[in-house]
Amino acid sequence: MSKKVKGTAIGIDLGTTYSCAAIWLSRKKRVEIIPNEQGNRITPSCLAFNDSELLVGENAKNQIARNPANTVFDVKRLIGNRFSDPQVQNDMKMWPFKVMKGDSEKPSVVVEFKGEEKKFAPEELSAMVLKKMKETAELFLGKEVKNAVITVPAYFNNQQREETKEAGTRAGLNVLHLLNEPTAAAIAYGVDNLSDENWNKDKKTVLVFDLGGGTFDVSLLTISKKGVIEVKAVGGDTHLGGEDFDTSLINYCINEFKKKNTGVDIRGNPRALGRLKVACEKAKRDLSSTIFAPIEIDCLHEGIDFSTKISRAKFEELNATYFDKCIQLLEECLRDGNMKKKDVDEVVVVGGSSRIPKIQRMVEEFFDGKTLCRSLNGDKAVASGAAILAARLSGNDDDMKNDVVLLDVIPCSLGISVKVNGVSGNMDIIIPKNRSIPTSKKITLLVNQTRVDIIVYQGENAKVMDNILLGEFELTGLTLGPDRKSKIEVCFSLDTNGILLVSAEEISTRQRKSITITKI
Ligand code: ADP
Ligand code: MG
Repeated sequence: MSKKVKGTAIGIDLGTTYSCAAIWLSRKKRVEIIPNEQGNRITPSCLAFNDSELLVGENAKNQIARNPANTVFDVKRLIGNRFSDPQVQNDMKMWPFKVMKGDSEKPSVVVEFKGEEKKFAPEELSAMVLKKMKETAELFLGKEVKNAVITVPAYFNNQQREETKEAGTRAGLNVLHLLNEPTAAAIAYGVDNLSDENWNKDKKTVLVFDLGGGTFDVSLLTISKKGVIEVKAVGGDTHLGGEDFDTSLINYCINEFKKKNTGVDIRGNPRALGRLKVACEKAKRDLSSTIFAPIEIDCLHEGIDFSTKISRAKFEELNATYFDKCIQLLEECLRDGNMKKKDVDEVVVVGGSSRIPKIQRMVEEFFDGKTLCRSLNGDKAVASGAAILAARLSGNDDDMKNDVVLLDVIPCSLGISVKVNGVSGNMDIIIPKNRSIPTSKKITLLVNQTRVDIIVYQGENAKVMDNILLGEFELTGLTLGPDRKSKIEVCFSLDTNGILLVSAEEISTRQRKSITITKI
């Protein structure tokens, strides 16, 4: 992290539903959130294609009901995933735009653009959002922006990170670092609070609870008075957030419409679904401050109006399973980090959906009535942390009052599958997720053949086909001992930059092979 780069560097929170860009202003000694052309500090991660142009952000979101099939959102739910992924298949049912199987199992979004059918890969679409954020920043700052720190959910795997980085590159940005979102929030929290006189401990344990539109991230970190941030555990779900709460409301409304109109189903009417989505999201937001929210849409389907009233209690009931899941994942993260509730000094809640009163109450109750830290601006904390790191990496941090140092953990488990005679088994985890880096681990294998293939995977599944292949190599001409076996020592070692070296050595002959994997 000591390399400095030339040129302006910003932080970008590339969210599922909203994106936000920020910059560290060294003269003013604070982070500035970059407003978009409408003056708003968050921009919908939304794209629209029409006969003459591409719209990005608010303009795209505002025309969704008129042009649903060519308005694309939720790209973060596609990036780095396979088309056949059950989650992708499930999400597709709710999207008014078309997704098809593209090259090498990847999903491809099909739209009509300038009168022609066009296909876009997820990273191309994310690149369009990032390009918009870059241009907005350039307009605001009055200079070219070359570099960026882009944030990703802590839970993102290698492929999802790779494609996010690729999107940055396609947008014309030099991606300085992909930073985990909760870590970014912790950096923002650290820089805001380190000089606080009430900071009476050497080290504080901070839990970041980030419930956004598409993802839920939870992270357990310690921040020392000197500014060292150490990630202890990360957890969450890449498919849990405000969009799911919207979907519950949409499904409820679809059923209400059916009940009131003797079985008439609006599914299959993209325009109606688009309008219902906008109305349900608004009702959901309103329910964070009121007890009842009306949903009224004229001529929703086949000329029939729709009108209903949702209570906050109904909304909470419809989403109870999701809310409980958040608490379960929170508990898991504490367990992974070997911490008890009482060890947590500060609970920092960020993300738009953490404004839901029930969620706040559940988190407070989980921590036995602890007051949550809401001093960080929920929507902007992640971008702020990214901007601070961007300034550090680009050498524009001379005036930063505290030196924030990052120590991270690996987000996904790393392991091997050993293939003897062409039979590939399950993956054995060598380095479990949440292990802090650098780290290394050795295991010994007994092989009863003269050849062995070592295949390196990343993921949490027992079956190799559900995990991500990182690389492979073989050892041949093995010497079998009197027991017809050869002993092989396999070593995984992961450095601070997340670069993995996997080596295998036959103990009797000292024959050794290894591979280096740079893209963890
Ligand atoms: P992401 O990072 O996933 O894009 P954000 O943190 O920007 O998400 O949060 C966006 C989500 O927060 C959306 O689903 C939005 O509907 C929801 N949201 C925003 N404000 C509120 C509110 N007042 N009450 C409930 N949900 C809200
Ligand atoms: Mg977010």
